Amino acid sequence: MSGRILIADDLATNRIVLKVKLTVSCYDVIQVERVDDALETARRAQPDLIILGRGRKGQSLSICTALKQDQILSSIPVILITDKDDRNSRIEALRAGAEDVYSRGGNESTLSAMVRNLIRTRGTYEEIMRHRDISTEFGCAEDAASFVPAAHIALVAPDPEQGLLWRRNLSTEMPHRLDVMTITQALGDMNAVRNVPDAFVISASLLEDTDGLRLVSELRSRVQTRNAVIVVVHSEDRPNDGAMALDLGADAVMHPCFEAIELSLRLKALLSRKLELDALRKRFDLNLSLAVQDPLTGLHNRRYAQSYLNRLEQEALTNGQAYAIMVLDLDHFKSINDRFGHGVGDKVLVEVANRMRKNLREFDLLARFGGEEFLVALPDVSPKDVAAMAERLRRAVGDVPIKVSEIAAPIHVTVSVGVAVWGDQANDARSSHELTQAADEALYASKSEGRNVVTFGKSAA
Ligand code: GH3
Ligand code: MG
Ligand code: MG
Repeated sequence: MSGRILIADDLATNRIVLKVKLTVSCYDVIQVERVDDALETARRAQPDLIILGRGRKGQSLSICTALKQDQILSSIPVILITDKDDRNSRIEALRAGAEDVYSRGGNESTLSAMVRNLIRTRGTYEEIMRHRDISTEFGCAEDAASFVPAAHIALVAPDPEQGLLWRRNLSTEMPHRLDVMTITQALGDMNAVRNVPDAFVISASLLEDTDGLRLVSELRSRVQTRNAVIVVVHSEDRPNDGAMALDLGADAVMHPCFEAIELSLRLKALLSRKLELDALRKRFDLNLSLAVQDPLTGLHNRRYAQSYLNRLEQEALTNGQAYAIMVLDLDHFKSINDRFGHGVGDKVLVEVANRMRKNLREFDLLARFGGEEFLVALPDVSPKDVAAMAERLRRAVGDVPIKVSEIAAPIHVTVSVGVAVWGDQANDARSSHELTQAADEALYASKSEGRNVVTFGKSAA
């Protein structure tokens, strides 16, 4: 996996040792000789990860805080390297906003795994942000909520007593719902979607030494828990579990001794990012459907129809596959609104849409093109088929009056149809735009002929 890493450390030997380790893994490494200059270089180089080493006293911490307060740089993950491997240094680093902490002289494979993990997560984050940017272009994105609502955290401890101890210690630090679970419970309750925890804190060794790690990979592979936060507490006698847990998909690894303040700092940061990404994912799905769907009828909208027609046009030009376009417009619809009100008019539109959908093939496109105007695109059809289909749609709307709950007598509504077929003449290479225009002209002919009829465009046989 490649990625650009910025190393800032006042001591040349520290930088060199780190650079050698990371270059082996094919990262593009940039060095900064003074921790002071980290912000400026980060702005210029836009790294995927920043490793802050030794600066003047306390300086790495303040630079880390400054990075996290910078609007552009704050999303770049930071690993802070401490000289001592003690609780206070770790807590200080996490409070300064570092995503992870590594003590010089610690297990090297853990550092490599931390780097891999943070660069991987950064990739996911950027991908989601790209979607957000696209939906902003469509004018339909909102900012994700910045607060962390109540979350559900599962504690999978080696035994029930320890689980209760974890819960007691953690409950003084966090307002979230904390449930002690066995490995079976953690994996079992997933069908009840509401109960899926937002985060799992897992002891690396449970009944069997590797059960905790197996649980990590199992949770990561399941749809419901794929994006959950996972923190692993590993045991002292198995130092390599940390790196393995990160490679299996854990977001963070805790030291063997359970430290509630450190865990709560990590969970807070990870949960706020998770909930932000969840909200963006959900909104993006919603935006996507809003962007292509008509909210009243649930049919595709004009924008989607346009892209679809472009595709049909391309296929027709490359493999000569014929297609047809129908434009349908309800007759005297204004008078339905005038007589019964707009609400009833809406219900009539919905029923007309349903009737048309039922009378088309699964892969035909039916779109609401404007107020009471619809467009149908029919791939792979002959003019004869189209004539039959247009007639079927006309009759599906007009033959049986529409019942609406507010009105005693069913409402009689008819539709006029204009049709144009591509490829019904030897040299017909018209664009889908021209074909739509031909269908439109045919529709006007239907209107002037008295409505409730089907007319074929000029190019048709
Ligand atoms: P024609 O046969 O010539 O098409 O007559 P028409 O009355 O259907 O056509 P016109 O274009 O004069 O009026 C269309 C009407 O459709 C006017 C508008 O209020 C109504 N309309 C457009 N969109 C909606 C909608 O979403 N809901 C409702 N209830 N009415 C709509
Ligand atoms: Mg009309
Ligand atoms: Mg109209």
